[in-house]
Amino acid sequence: MGSAALYHLARDGVRVLGVDRYTPPHAMGSSHGRSRIIREAYFEDPLYVPLVQRAYELWDDLQRETGREILVRTGGLMIGPPDGAVVGGALRSANQHALPHERLTATQVNERFPGFRPTVDMIGVWEPRAGYLVPETAIAAHLSLAEGHGAKLALGEAIVDWRVTGDGVEVTTTNSVYRADRLVLALGAWMPRMVRDLELPLTVERTVLYWFNPARPTTLFDRDRFPIWLCEYAPGRVWYGFPDVGHGVKVALHHQGSVADPDTLRRDVAPEEIAYIRALLHAFMPNADGPVVEAEVCMYTNTPDEHFLIDRHPAHSQLIVASPCSGHGFKFSSSIGEQLALLATDATTSFDLSPFRIDRFV
Ligand SMILES: Cc1cc2nc3c(=O)[nH]c(=O)nc-3n(C[C@H](O)[C@H](O)[C@H](O)COP(=O)(O)OP(=O)(O)OC[C@H]3O[C@@H](n4cnc5c(N)ncnc54)[C@H](O)[C@@H]3O)c2cc1C
Repeated sequence: MGSAALYHLARDGVRVLGVDRYTPPHAMGSSHGRSRIIREAYFEDPLYVPLVQRAYELWDDLQRETGREILVRTGGLMIGPPDGAVVGGALRSANQHALPHERLTATQVNERFPGFRPTVDMIGVWEPRAGYLVPETAIAAHLSLAEGHGAKLALGEAIVDWRVTGDGVEVTTTNSVYRADRLVLALGAWMPRMVRDLELPLTVERTVLYWFNPARPTTLFDRDRFPIWLCEYAPGRVWYGFPDVGHGVKVALHHQGSVADPDTLRRDVAPEEIAYIRALLHAFMPNADGPVVEAEVCMYTNTPDEHFLIDRHPAHSQLIVASPCSGHGFKFSSSIGEQLALLATDATTSFDLSPFRIDRFV
């Protein structure tokens, strides 16, 4: 979120500094792991559809400008019981926004994508424009283009405190003290400790990403044959995955992780965790049930209603707080970066951000 905001501010000619405790792209926060799903028939709520449509435009622009692969359209499958959260929600968004989609029976899903075997009580919603983003490339692209437009970077430098000074703000880092007219805080899992006065109801959740090599060499999971997918395999329980783009088939559980602290996060993965996801692979994608290539730990920062938090600080309008995560934020980072830049320059945002207001919680 920070790199995208930096890019939009710099491109608009604003004098801007990007500060990060690490050197993005890095694997310590919420934006690593080679891929992030982007989808338009948004099961969480139709209100996200216009924001993701703008995100698509901006990802395409970024890709054109850098010449690097950032957005790959594989199509997407939302799988589950017809009245479940994933399928029911995707159909609601698709119908409300007249999005291209197809409703497939379990058999049709398996015929079209033999790598996946839904159970007979499930259906699939196919959306042709879904795909995945390459987060590390996207972040590096935003940062380098921002620098090209004159942004400065202070990396490996942690913000330890901020305080308002008249209409502006003073930021103390481990290396320096900076003064600015506006401050955008997009601190991921570290957000709650940096805006303690708001007592934001954010919780950090440990999540794991897994890569499995198919048991036998196969083209079933190649990206031109196999889409991104989400599957509600039990009421309210969702897992999801990606095609094999050379590092094995990537799969993960959506939520269901334990509460964590970003500074003491357990970064190793237990055999029981691998056994749980392997049982799902065995049931739904038996051809992918081979050796584990890698397992990597990441963090969700969740709000109680799982909708984003993007707003000015209620007491200090020069401070913008951005916590668009709850496990589904990356796809929007291009368009949210654009909105953060508008907020930071006191311009009118081009989307209604009221569903993401802070005062719904504090
Ligand atoms: C496993 C996993 C899978 C996901 N899958 C998807 C998906 O498929 N599709 C999707 O759209 N979304 C997905 N998400 C959610 C998405 O990745 C997040 O919403 C998004 O990456 C959050 O970005 P962020 O900028 O808020 O946080 P981060 O990327 O973590 O950035 C926060 C930055 O703040 C820096 N920072 C923190 N504290 C300080 C400080 N004191 N001083 C200076 N810098 C500081 C950190 O170093 C970090 O670089 C997933 C998340 C995870 C963890």
